Amino acid sequence: MAKTIAVVNQKGGVGKTTTSVNLAASLAFHDQKVLLIDLDPQGNATSGLGFDKRSLEGSIYDAFAGKTAIADLVKPTAMEFLDAVPSSIDLIGAEIELVGVEGREMILKNAIAQVADRYKYIVLDCPPSLGLLTVNALSAADTVLIPIQCEFYAMEGLSQLSDTISRVRQTLNPSLDIEGVLFTMYDSRIKLANDVVDEVKKVYREKVFHTMIPRNVRLAESPSFGKPALLYDFTSRGAQSYINLSRELLIRNGILSESSPAQQTAEVLGSVPSGGVLS
Ligand code: ATP
Ligand code: MG
Repeated sequence: MAKTIAVVNQKGGVGKTTTSVNLAASLAFHDQKVLLIDLDPQGNATSGLGFDKRSLEGSIYDAFAGKTAIADLVKPTAMEFLDAVPSSIDLIGAEIELVGVEGREMILKNAIAQVADRYKYIVLDCPPSLGLLTVNALSAADTVLIPIQCEFYAMEGLSQLSDTISRVRQTLNPSLDIEGVLFTMYDSRIKLANDVVDEVKKVYREKVFHTMIPRNVRLAESPSFGKPALLYDFTSRGAQSYINLSRELLIRNGILSESSPAQQTAEVLGSVPSGGVLS
């Protein structure tokens, strides 16, 4: 049975999609079969994995609309161990269309149950809001991964997110846990970034990942090539930091041990259909 991880922060632009795509790819790199579901009508994870949003047949909207089973919406990606369910702009309408529908918070959970035995991890890229799509993600998830950008307003909204998680625990999903808090776009030379890290650690303590994601231009560039960073520039600090994050997560989950050797590049090369990965 897959472990479902929702990547959530209602603040925009903090690195949710970058984390969803690159964590999913890095888990796949560690031979974990992964399904990434794009729950954001913006479809950034969809285009970041190389799908053309205009010519897609089927998206997660069709599962919310009850038109298509999720198994029929799953698409392969350039990585053997990574599948995806794309999003589309129609998803904007889902929140309104589902008003009054009984069990509307559980649609995603029920959909995922049909494919959960095919994967080790299901990663949910959430939109920047705490609306119905995010509530569906929180209801369906085993854990929440919270990316936090190390900037002045980082703490703002975190208490609102904690309240939402508590409310979901009380009603829809009692066993919802926190996978971890991840610092993104981190620059150790900036004092403010370190102050933010200290503040967040006071609240989330051991839930904070040791791995921090640096600001790295390759991470920002790779979506425009439709690739996760490890297929775009494997040796970049950005790609390597997400590989480290996936390793830390797999160690925390008891899948890898501290002494497991690091995965080799050749295995990524082997999983790409054509063309040079490192060129
Ligand atoms: P939204 O709330 O709109 O969904 P988001 O939380 O998903 O945004 P991203 O889209 O992942 O955030 O990142 C916002 C922008 O910052 C993007 O242009 C992305 O390429 C860039 N970015 C994210 N992480 C990094 C990083 N570590 N280094 C450099 N650029 C980054
Ligand atoms: Mg996003």
